[in-house]
Amino acid sequence: MHRKEIAILLKDRRLHPFLEKFFRSRKTYHPSFFFNPSLFLDHVRGSNPSAIIISGASLKHTGKVIRHYPSIALISGDSRKGIREAIGYQVTCYILGPYLDLDLAHKLASVISESEMLEKMECRKKELEAVVDLTQLISETLDSKKLLFQIVKKIAEIVPVIRCSIIKVDCRHKTIFVVATHEDPMFRGMKLSLRKYPEILEALNSKKYVVVQDVSTDPIMDTVRDVITPIGIRSILVVPIFYHSKVIGTLFLRTSRTQQSFSEHEINLLNSMARASANSLYSAFLFEQVEDEKTRLEKLSITDYLTGINNIRYFYHRIIQEFSRSQRYSSSFSCLMLDIDRFKDINDIYGHKVGDQVLREFATSLKKHSRNSDVLARYGGEEFILLLPETSPQGAVAEAERIRMHIQDQHFKSLRDGRTITVSIGISSYPHPGIKTHDDLISYADTALYAAKNSGRNRVSFHVR
Ligand code: GH3
Ligand code: MG
Ligand code: MG
Repeated sequence: MHRKEIAILLKDRRLHPFLEKFFRSRKTYHPSFFFNPSLFLDHVRGSNPSAIIISGASLKHTGKVIRHYPSIALISGDSRKGIREAIGYQVTCYILGPYLDLDLAHKLASVISESEMLEKMECRKKELEAVVDLTQLISETLDSKKLLFQIVKKIAEIVPVIRCSIIKVDCRHKTIFVVATHEDPMFRGMKLSLRKYPEILEALNSKKYVVVQDVSTDPIMDTVRDVITPIGIRSILVVPIFYHSKVIGTLFLRTSRTQQSFSEHEINLLNSMARASANSLYSAFLFEQVEDEKTRLEKLSITDYLTGINNIRYFYHRIIQEFSRSQRYSSSFSCLMLDIDRFKDINDIYGHKVGDQVLREFATSLKKHSRNSDVLARYGGEEFILLLPETSPQGAVAEAERIRMHIQDQHFKSLRDGRTITVSIGISSYPHPGIKTHDDLISYADTALYAAKNSGRNRVSFHVR
């Protein structure tokens, strides 16, 4: 049983037998007697007692400390002076001698319960303020990422946890994502495997909150206990967030071994918070989804559907940039136009489908053999284009030769009979007196490619004129 600490300071020892007898029969209290004010003060600061009992004559030695604790002054002798002093030092209540056992028992219980009630009310007040803050935040924060973070931060301020997160549920794809976590405002999101979080799965299935008071014993954690126990987690609380009757996400809280598990009161509070923030979470999730979709579409709009490398649209965007950069800094750069030799034969012999596979393998190989700073794209059909920033004509020829030889030696998985293919490459470089625009650069490379084809294929040709 948790006994309530009572710190007692007496000026002389005459009261000692009475108090000792009083506490002997009351085991809910744990009294600590002091006759020295400074030892008493050290003890009070260190142990944070439930109440203080002090003889009136000792008050002047303890200063302002008394007012911060529930306290009883025992007044003997000049009662008028004693009372005045007790009031001056802001004790909670006083008892005049001769002291009665029952009187002290009643007053001690009252001062303690009154202070506990105040503490609880203080706590409720803080929580109410947090909910009000939260609703205000929701109405003010337009940035969805920021809002998600503010919600978890607010919750972590009132419920002591090691981690408070918001999980987004994608029912269609049966996946879950952490979208916000309270210790990291810059958190970018993370996909979780539902298999590793049976408590979240349970909350999604039951549409009710799930509380795991002790992860080391709760049967729900059986499948993941070995992984989760060493992390030092004590309790987990999963509170579903509904939009209409659909679970769109959950609050996800964990306490450490050194912290308490969740009280019924905290669970109720978190359910209210989940309800209060459901609509805005839904909007935030939607917003996120739209943003993700936008990024995906943006990526898609510059990607070649067959090979997965950049399409010509992206290439134009980059070559225009590179052209003006090169003009500004008078640096040189080069452009390689690549065309697979006799590709029509591949289609004729193996069929169009195999032809497509060869194109994919070819693109992958080009990507692998080009530098990160190079810009590779499919120009169309079996033609590819490669932009080499900061590359002189000599550098470009060397790079083109390297690519040509890689392709010539490459084993294509889609060509089962071991047939190899070759590529012809035309090169143009800037600066060049005849090249005024990026289109000129491309058409010069094209002309060079034509020359490479004409001189027998499997060649590199540099544009000169
Ligand atoms: P060369 O360039 O050496 O002169 O001969 P080639 O046979 O490669 O050139 P040509 O321009 O005559 O033929 C190109 C072939 O590439 C014809 C076309 O069907 C094929 N092709 C273009 N795009 C695709 C594609 O996306 N998939 C497949 N499988 N074939 C494609
Ligand atoms: Mg062609
Ligand atoms: Mg060709």
